[in-house]
Amino acid sequence: MQKERNENNKLPKIYMVLKIIGFSLLILGIILLILSFVLFKERTFDNNVSKMGLRFGGACSIIFSFVFNFIGFSPNIAKLQVKTKKYLINENKEDLTDISSVSGDIAEPHVKKITKAVKEQLTDESGENKKYCKYCGKPIDSDAIFCDKCGKKQD
Ligand SMILES: [Zn+2]
Repeated sequence: MQKERNENNKLPKIYMVLKIIGFSLLILGIILLILSFVLFKERTFDNNVSKMGLRFGGACSIIFSFVFNFIGFSPNIAKLQVKTKKYLINENKEDLTDISSVSGDIAEPHVKKITKAVKEQLTDESGENKKYCKYCGKPIDSDAIFCDKCGKKQD
């Protein structure tokens, strides 16, 4: 079962591609920012490459790298969340069992009431398990020895 699930459940390659793009953009952004500071220090500006342009490019690269990495790592984050939930459930198993048994205790009388009502409704409609007292004519259980309305013995 576990093995079968692993074979059929492979993470789409797109996430790996997104991670690679994300990391590349991050490195590119850092390089651009470092370059802008180095160029600024030495005051050797090319006419086509300005300090601000490099910084803008670097900042954009880093922002996009976060976007790509965020999507690329989303399955890992989801996995981590599932693991965390599993851990929390295991850690609080006793409390959870208590809660479920308490809510079961609260629900039990209501369930019994409903079951009884449904049962009565069914037997009333089918006419089974019911007979009528010979003396007063009130409906009583078919196995009743005494009528619970007038108290006379049934035979
Ligand atoms: Zn009776």
